[in-house]
Amino acid sequence: MIDTTVASDGALLRVLMVEDAPADAELCERELKRAGLRIVTRCVDTRPAYEQALDDFMPDLIISDFSLPTAFDGLTALDLARMHSPDVPFVFVSGTIGEERAVEAMKRGATDYVLKDRLNRLVPVIERALHEVEERHARRVAEEELGETQRRLNSILSSLSDVVSSYAVAPPGMLYMSEAAENVYGRSTADFLASPELRVGIVHPEDRGAYEAAWQKVLEGGRFDLEYRVVRPDGTERWIHGRGTPARDAGGAVVRIDSLARDVTSRRTNEERIARLTRIQAVLSGINAAIVRLKDKQQLYEEVCRIAIEEGQFQLAWVGELDKATHEVNPVARRGVGDSHAHVGKRSASADAPRGGGALGLAVRSQQAVAVNDVRTDPRVGKPGAALAHGLLSFAVLPLITEDGVSGVVVLYAAETDFFDADELRLLSDLAGNISFALDSMNKAAKLDHLAYYDALTGLPNRSLFYDRVGQSIARASGTDQKVAVVALDLERFRTVNETLGVAAGDAFLKRTAERLLNAVGEGGTVARLSADRFTLSFSHSMGEVDLARLLQDRVLAALEAPVSIGGQELCVPAKAGIAIHPADGAAAEALVLNAEAALNSAKRSGTRFLFYARQMNARVAEKLKLENELRSALRDNQFILYYQTRVALATGKVCGLEALIRWRSPTRGMVMPGEFIPVLEETGMILDVGRWAFTQAAADAAAWRGKGLTPPPIGVNVSAIQLKQPNFVEDMIKAMQDRTGVGKIDIELTESMIMEDVQGSGSKLSAIRAAGIGIAIDDFGTGYSSLSYLARLPIDTLKIDQSFIREMNTSPEHLAIVTTVISLAHSLKMNVVAEGVETEEQAGLLRLLRCDEAQGYLYSRPQPPDVVAGTLS
Ligand code: C2E
Ligand code: CA
Ligand code: CA
Repeated sequence: MIDTTVASDGALLRVLMVEDAPADAELCERELKRAGLRIVTRCVDTRPAYEQALDDFMPDLIISDFSLPTAFDGLTALDLARMHSPDVPFVFVSGTIGEERAVEAMKRGATDYVLKDRLNRLVPVIERALHEVEERHARRVAEEELGETQRRLNSILSSLSDVVSSYAVAPPGMLYMSEAAENVYGRSTADFLASPELRVGIVHPEDRGAYEAAWQKVLEGGRFDLEYRVVRPDGTERWIHGRGTPARDAGGAVVRIDSLARDVTSRRTNEERIARLTRIQAVLSGINAAIVRLKDKQQLYEEVCRIAIEEGQFQLAWVGELDKATHEVNPVARRGVGDSHAHVGKRSASADAPRGGGALGLAVRSQQAVAVNDVRTDPRVGKPGAALAHGLLSFAVLPLITEDGVSGVVVLYAAETDFFDADELRLLSDLAGNISFALDSMNKAAKLDHLAYYDALTGLPNRSLFYDRVGQSIARASGTDQKVAVVALDLERFRTVNETLGVAAGDAFLKRTAERLLNAVGEGGTVARLSADRFTLSFSHSMGEVDLARLLQDRVLAALEAPVSIGGQELCVPAKAGIAIHPADGAAAEALVLNAEAALNSAKRSGTRFLFYARQMNARVAEKLKLENELRSALRDNQFILYYQTRVALATGKVCGLEALIRWRSPTRGMVMPGEFIPVLEETGMILDVGRWAFTQAAADAAAWRGKGLTPPPIGVNVSAIQLKQPNFVEDMIKAMQDRTGVGKIDIELTESMIMEDVQGSGSKLSAIRAAGIGIAIDDFGTGYSSLSYLARLPIDTLKIDQSFIREMNTSPEHLAIVTTVISLAHSLKMNVVAEGVETEEQAGLLRLLRCDEAQGYLYSRPQPPDVVAGTLS
């Protein structure tokens, strides 16, 4: 084993020779050197030496004889070389080599073979082999480098949590997708590579439009940058932030799209959660502010709903109060979408009610917030239809827990599913807690308020509330003709009741008194209890003091004095009253109460049932009431009498009618004229009886005259507005006439204002009256405001021109003009015209000239009693 070195300008080539004949080896060596190769050689002819050389000589080239004298041979050497150094060229150089063996050698990996007698081929063969080795080496290095890069890239890509993908435009298809797809999309990269349509298929239907639009943009060379949702095979959703850039070919056409998809689900859900929590915080602080500000439950409920919708962006909010007796929740405030819908209806929270098992009932019974995060799937939702119809997907029921248990619920609906997680519920429970706290304090305040303003025993307003109410009435009355009256009442023997029957009976009596007063006063006034047995009333009114006195006497005092049974005892407790009236008797409530009490004390001292604080009023009222009482007996005692005044035909001077005028022959007052008592009769309603009397009396007088063989002319009877308003006025009138057939003609006189008050009603009444043969005259014509054209439509026979026009006619051209016009108009309407109050010949002459039909007045006769009139009749 000798290594010989041949120097050359190329690289040193290590040549291992397997040769038993040194000459042959030399020949080869010379041949190589001749070609200028720098070589170092080792020659071996045994297997151990060969194997050793493979190890330590590390040849670049092996040149081997085919057959060796030892047990060793060329093919074995080849096999060993292929095993040990597969890349080293192995060339057989042999004297003889059969075709068969050559093929065998090549199959087993020999590089080539050269016959010993053709050694000139050796160098080209070697050079080619070495070149191939070099190329193979270079390729392998390149391959190794590429493989290394590829491996590194792959490991980088697969370590990315983002999905990297590459997509071919035409034909469309996925070229590459990183392993993260498995994790993000829940599908293998193989799935994507196999089906190109999966790229769009995984996108959430709602986001598909935006996705396709963005993809189209990138196909046209733009950039893809979009957040969208994908749906995984298990149905869960993920938020993806996708970014893509187009890759172009040399011609600039987009051929590929490379993209990166990042799972941003947790960021998105966090954002949403933070937004939700922010919304709830806004609701919480808004409601806290409202709690401080509001004092009224209903207002608070409504504000809670408003804030939930406007600031919390809930879709629907409603508040229900729990009826503890029926276990029903009644909505009391609501706001938002579909708030009129069935799902805010009244419902039962009791466990055995059909819907009581629902979320609402659960919240009420468990006293805990209940969240339904998907109405479609939650078994606690009976029929989600109504909610779904309004896009309401989740809701929470927050019980309002006040000191005496659950008092109601706040229900909030959101458009999203899974809106209410633990954090939200905790905030919302705080919210419900704050509302409940506010309700508690409102309840307490209300109780205190009630105690502060109401008398605990009777429930009537106490002194401060009474002052307040009177103050309000005074404020309302200012600038109007309204008066405010304060009445102080005294139960004269209340102290005795307390002392003899005990406090319990006294209390019962006071309660009964309160009830009776409320009943007597009704809606028209306020009843209060200022102290033990001091009740007060207040009225806001525009009635006269006499009406007030009447109300007090006939209703209030009468009610108080009616016997009452307390503890089995019949009690009769006389009451007294004092009245003060704003503004005359005091500017403010306190002064009015003081003065009413002063008046009450005077009443008690003087023994009268009630007194006004203003003395002159007492006299006036007393006088009026006295007159009233006397009039009441006047009818009964037959103190009324009809006087008659004649009506004369102006053309002939003959009597053509009588007017019945009432007089009152009072035993104490003497002859009283109607002007003094008709208004009182009208105020008290006594006019109905007196009016009926007048009509029948006129008929009776006429009958009496006829009985004496006289022929009385038609008699006009005055009728009051009150009478005309009676629904049975016409019947009454006709009946009175039928009772006295053959008495002659009786007419009625009505004033124009009475008729104008109700033209239509009057019209039908008058027609019926006239149909019964009763004539109708309009009295005092000209004093009202009616137009003749109105009256033209009514069945009127006679117009009586008021005496004020007749009196002025001679001196005032305007009055004369009016009288002239009225006469001619009345004539054109076929009415008979009567001039009233004719006192002078001058007036009579003028009226005759104006063709007035009849006249009535002192010129012809004063009103006279029936027997005197009889003398003038023929
Ligand atoms: P009247 O219906 O306008 O009656 C005419 C009034 O004028 C009568 O007053 C009569 O005495 C008075 N009088 C008649 N001629 C003259 C005159 O030449 N000069 C002056 N200055 N006065 C004259 P009297 O009787 O005091 O009645 C007053 C009013 O009382 C009547 O006005 C009528 O409205 C009402 N009245 C009278 N009797 C009744 C009755 O029975 N029922 C109703 N409801 N009212 C009646
Ligand atoms: Ca009259
Ligand atoms: Ca008259």
